[in-house]
Amino acid sequence: MQTESTPFSGAATEDDTSRSTGSRGDFPSSVLAGRRVLISAGPTHEPIDPVRFLGNRSSGKMGFALAAEAAARGADTFLVSGPVSLQTPRGVTRTDVTTALEMRDAIQARAARADLIIMAAAVADFRPLIVSQSKIKKEQGIPRIELTANPDILASLPAIAPGALRVGFAAETEASEAEAYAKLERKGAHFLVWNDVSQRGIGFGADDNDVTVYSNGRAPVRIDRRPKEDVASLLLDLFGEALQSFGTDIARAAY
Ligand code: C5P
Repeated sequence: MQTESTPFSGAATEDDTSRSTGSRGDFPSSVLAGRRVLISAGPTHEPIDPVRFLGNRSSGKMGFALAAEAAARGADTFLVSGPVSLQTPRGVTRTDVTTALEMRDAIQARAARADLIIMAAAVADFRPLIVSQSKIKKEQGIPRIELTANPDILASLPAIAPGALRVGFAAETEASEAEAYAKLERKGAHFLVWNDVSQRGIGFGADDNDVTVYSNGRAPVRIDRRPKEDVASLLLDLFGEALQSFGTDIARAAY
């Protein structure tokens, strides 16, 4: 396990603005041109009855920023979005879903053809076992809602898309490096983008983010607080770089 984190070579400097639309300078942003990039974004809503649902605070901004940047770099970009109020970025093909099961089907249908899969969605871990067909009346008392686990979409991808570079996100209220590596392992992902949602002004719903990127065999990479668009650009530099060396089976096995 790695313990030291290296700040991304592009720490917050003046040329960050140019980076948001281009490459970091030491390798071409065209690495993603023509590659198939599949991204999930937003929350999922799990119905309780026709008017209520279980969900979370994800705004979808991080996933949409990644999709916008991937498309701007020439990637064939497909976005699977949960319920959000965001415009589809230019050049991105989008399909909307509501529940985790719908998101799983949409992602799995395209995963085998993807070169890079980024699961930025905050998928609900549980859904009501039984969805009431009519509105549950409060006059009938407090309902007991039995929950069941949703499938883990990211963890299903190694079997379906073994040749794709797979990236997960983690939104936690406490930072734990050990947990980050355990999650990377459990999900069979190559990268895990970790953000601490307890900090104000970053993460869920915010315009900024501040993340640490974990992957096996290399030191964690810190990306300090900055707009999600700039975080997306730096992340795609990192993933693009990995995709370049990921092209051979030998390199893939090393990840
Ligand atoms: O386990 P946890 O929810 O923290 O994992 C987060 C990562 O796993 C995210 O990339 C998220 O999109 C993905 N995930 C998933 N299916 C689930 C739960 C999480 O793909 N049911």
